[in-house]
Amino acid sequence: MGRETLLIILLLLFGGVVTQVLVWFPLPGLHHKTQLRNAERRAWLRLWLPLIPTFIVGAWLCGWALQEPDPVHDPVDSGILITACLPYAMIVARAGFRAIWSLLREPVDIPICTVGFLQPRVVFSPLLARRLDEAQLQAAWEHERAHARHRDPLRIWLAQIATDLQWPWPSARERFTTWLEMLEYTRDEEARVCGASGVDLASAILATLRHASPALRAQNVLHQGGVSTLIGDPRALQRRIARLLAPLPRQDDTATQTGVGSKALIAVLISTLIVAYALGVMYGEVVLHLLFAWTWSL
Ligand SMILES: [Zn+2]
Repeated sequence: MGRETLLIILLLLFGGVVTQVLVWFPLPGLHHKTQLRNAERRAWLRLWLPLIPTFIVGAWLCGWALQEPDPVHDPVDSGILITACLPYAMIVARAGFRAIWSLLREPVDIPICTVGFLQPRVVFSPLLARRLDEAQLQAAWEHERAHARHRDPLRIWLAQIATDLQWPWPSARERFTTWLEMLEYTRDEEARVCGASGVDLASAILATLRHASPALRAQNVLHQGGVSTLIGDPRALQRRIARLLAPLPRQDDTATQTGVGSKALIAVLISTLIVAYALGVMYGEVVLHLLFAWTWSL
């Protein structure tokens, strides 16, 4: 069997088993007293946690493949390996298809949104802009600018892929929905810190929702296809409006601390991937040989 083919099969096999098990692992809830920006970061991390072991195993397997001859001597019957990895291969194919389809399909007519992955831009419907007063327009603009600053269209697209890789379990979808809700709260708060009034932002959201087509209001399409919107998820609208009408929470330097925390987390992850890769180079063949011998003896 070709080395790269076996690498993909093993990655699908290990990744599939680990992800499908970890998606059931209970994660600590988001504390309601946590600073909003921290809560959004934690919700984002909770979405990716079941996939992180797959990335580590992937790095380890890449290290193993580096020192393997091509083609590889089949450790076990290739038919068994292919059959075993088929279920997760279908999940990955589904996730890939949905990710591509969300980019290629006819764009949904969203009155105010942010689009674009690397250089996001804010899009306003001229019809809606005429219906909003200056303060509402400014509030909506600040909300969307916050989405653009954090490249949220790209993050939403990636989060959708992460959720699809944990299909079909509802816990992954719940974590995705929770993160989206936190994301909108955080961007609302950021807009208010930048000078927007909570009342103006709430009235801009309601006006946008009234202006949106019934199809848009009814469908859960607002966060698919790498688009972040002013409306957010209509199902969370009541809680969001209540937050906007409440006084703005006291701001402290937690945001800076979170930025440092995120960078530290990324550094730890990259270091772990490098170590896993090195271990794959050194011990990959021995470990895989033992693993296959043990599996075959069962
Ligand atoms: Zn938004």
